[in-house]
Amino acid sequence: MPRDWPKRAFWGDIMVVVYSDLKRNGFELLSKARELADKRGNKVCAVVIGKDAGTQAQEYIQRGADMVIVTGSSMEHFNAEDVSDILEVVVKEERPEIVLIASTKDGKELAPRLASKLDAGCISDANKIYVDGDSILAERVVYSGNGIAVEQFGSFPGIITVPGKAFDPLPIDPGRTGEVVNRDIVLKQQRSSIVDVQKMVSEGVNVEEAEKIVSCGRGFKKSDDLKLIEELARVMNGNTLGCSRPIAADLKWLSEDHWVGLSGHKVKPKLYIACGISGQIQHVAGMRDSGIIVAINKDADAPIFNSADYGIVGDLYQVIPKLIEAIRQKM
Ligand SMILES: Cc1cc2nc3c(=O)[nH]c(=O)nc-3n(C[C@H](O)[C@H](O)[C@H](O)COP(=O)(O)OP(=O)(O)OC[C@H]3O[C@@H](n4cnc5c(N)ncnc54)[C@H](O)[C@@H]3O)c2cc1C
Repeated sequence: MPRDWPKRAFWGDIMVVVYSDLKRNGFELLSKARELADKRGNKVCAVVIGKDAGTQAQEYIQRGADMVIVTGSSMEHFNAEDVSDILEVVVKEERPEIVLIASTKDGKELAPRLASKLDAGCISDANKIYVDGDSILAERVVYSGNGIAVEQFGSFPGIITVPGKAFDPLPIDPGRTGEVVNRDIVLKQQRSSIVDVQKMVSEGVNVEEAEKIVSCGRGFKKSDDLKLIEELARVMNGNTLGCSRPIAADLKWLSEDHWVGLSGHKVKPKLYIACGISGQIQHVAGMRDSGIIVAINKDADAPIFNSADYGIVGDLYQVIPKLIEAIRQKM
């Protein structure tokens, strides 16, 4: 190859291989992969697995892939053993520098298996990835949100898992062209098999997709008082309700679907209104990428105000009804 990068054991035309069991996360990974590959003038390959893979290939190209490998058409459900076998074959053939895997529940099971098969390093839950000279650096939040680790690989390929919403997908480019490769990778008899798949019971709330979120914390005295934020959500044309961990995990006033934070959902709405939430780092880790953050808290020194674009210091039981009234008049 024309360039002399002695540390790179793996080197081909493909710089980044991308895999996600969820299409939405796959598109987010593709946008970062595209940026990294463009810096070095190299290519991006997406691996799409399963019985619908063929129909999705063009979408992956329109979102930034140069090549899409379509395989595993007999797979009904995700199985980490099969998918890691498939990715092992692809990585050994394509010799990328980096493999990006979405940090979904399935991705978290997959990435360490693949790392072990390839004897590769694995960086988990990176929310920043960038080229720095000859190196690829990845940053991730550590110590419950109190620190940021900047990491790099000592060998290649390197595997990086990426949480949802860390990167914005590229807009669809209908004119984009790429190569679709149908690969028939023979799957082994695995040691585990899926016996039953049960759908998670949920209220159908998707805070991760919401454009506007009104969120509540322990500043509320009783569950009945949540009517206040429900009303605020209603006057603002159907905002989604979010909450801090104690509201979902300890008090159980709302289901875990609403839980925002490090151990809850990571959200990125255009507007996030935090009502009676102190703003501990574990909560902020889940909502700090929101467009505009409004905080209502009676304590002027509450840490949430450090993350807020607009802060209202006051008792939420007085502030929220006034806010509702003001919005009603405006609307
Ligand atoms: C490993 C780990 C993971 C965690 N993950 C998460 C997570 O994912 N999400 C999360 O949220 N937390 C998480 N936590 C918990 C986190 O540290 C905080 O304890 C939690 O976020 C606090 O919730 P809160 O702000 O609702 O309550 P509090 O910290 O008790 O804050 C209540 C706030 O309400 C204000 N208030 C009280 N009365 C009123 C009123 N009448 N009007 C206006 N304001 C009022 C107070 O001034 C205070 O600031 C985690 C903790 C650990 C250790």
